Amino acid sequence: MAENPNDWDPATKLIRGGLSRSQFGETAEALYLTQSFVYDSAADADARFSGENPGYIYSRYANPTTSMFEERLALLEGAEYCRALASGMAAVHVALTGLLRAGDHLVAGRALFGSCRWICAELLPRFGVETTFVDATDLDAWQAAMRPNTKAVLIETPANPLLEITDIAAVAKIAHAAGAKVVVDNVFGTPIFQKPLTLGADIVVYSATKHIDGQGRVLGGAILGAKDLLEESYRDIIRHTGPAISPFNSWVLLKGIETLDLRVRRQTETAAALADQIADHPASGRTLYPGRADHPQAAIARAQMTGFSNLIAFDLGTREAAWRFLDALEIVDISNNLGDAKSMATHPSTTTHRAMPEDKRLEIGLTDGYVRMSVGLEGAGDLARDVGRALDAARANS
Ligand SMILES: *Cc1c(COP(=O)(O)O)cnc(C)c1O
Repeated sequence: MAENPNDWDPATKLIRGGLSRSQFGETAEALYLTQSFVYDSAADADARFSGENPGYIYSRYANPTTSMFEERLALLEGAEYCRALASGMAAVHVALTGLLRAGDHLVAGRALFGSCRWICAELLPRFGVETTFVDATDLDAWQAAMRPNTKAVLIETPANPLLEITDIAAVAKIAHAAGAKVVVDNVFGTPIFQKPLTLGADIVVYSATKHIDGQGRVLGGAILGAKDLLEESYRDIIRHTGPAISPFNSWVLLKGIETLDLRVRRQTETAAALADQIADHPASGRTLYPGRADHPQAAIARAQMTGFSNLIAFDLGTREAAWRFLDALEIVDISNNLGDAKSMATHPSTTTHRAMPEDKRLEIGLTDGYVRMSVGLEGAGDLARDVGRALDAARANS
């Protein structure tokens, strides 16, 4: 074959990557809804279990539809290897537990997706792993947190919910000097706009539930990195603890990812305009969008991202004003999901971050006036009108 898929444009990778047609020559990717596989002979079964024959054994281990999704995502990411799992949280859980043992230490940014924070703060300590949370924008804090037993660091950038940016390359340098592996949760960055592996990360994780599906249908997750590292750290955990993704969900994600590049670029274009509109409106205080020059880490965002994605956070001053904003929306949904074709807005301090104690919320700057919005694919003019009206409503009575 003269074509090298690694050289393809992202849009081509998303349509053609990993495609493996059956003997029937189907156009669309086949859905192999099967739990197990049969063998030509007893000797063939023996060869598959020994690994001498690389064929499929059981869908908890691997499945042909899931393999197509894994290859497609790996090609897009520029990763050697990918394992798809049942959800983003399954991916984060496996990514961390595969690297850590009792007595090890983890360093993580203090602003994290709620369930990721729970794993680090509550679950890992039960098994003898200690976590130190740091202000992820402060390189001295990362450096000071490193210990001889630090085996992993977890970076989420842009971070939920206030879109704080961490310098991946700088933290990777600090972590590697201390002998720790670098795990990056790249959901908000998306595989279109941010490539953590090229910046020094060892492992990238995704919730495919978000932009990769992008149409609100299924949960999914993925872990990407070097094949040796993934095989050594994760193969047996995945086989024996059962976080396997349903082949049906892999198939939905395979079809969803075909339009990822188109969708995320359009959403980002609309988000950039809305962020300016929100920032210019008298109802809003601070407006956080990594593509705006007034974002506190705008320079790092520009250096490590090629686009600034579709999430915006903005402060309307009080919980009452934030709720008036949400309740006045007629097109945008009130929902904590993100990356969807449908625009959505949420009030983090009473939803996604309500389990976080107030002092920890204030530590990351999350006051009750903040709204987080995920911009979808509706017409930009319609969204501007809806958001403008809701901002007017937020200001009334304040
Ligand atoms: C949604 C999300 C997750 C968890 O993914 P699920 O698919 O919901 O399990 C993890 N990290 C980030 C940054 C997310 O946005």
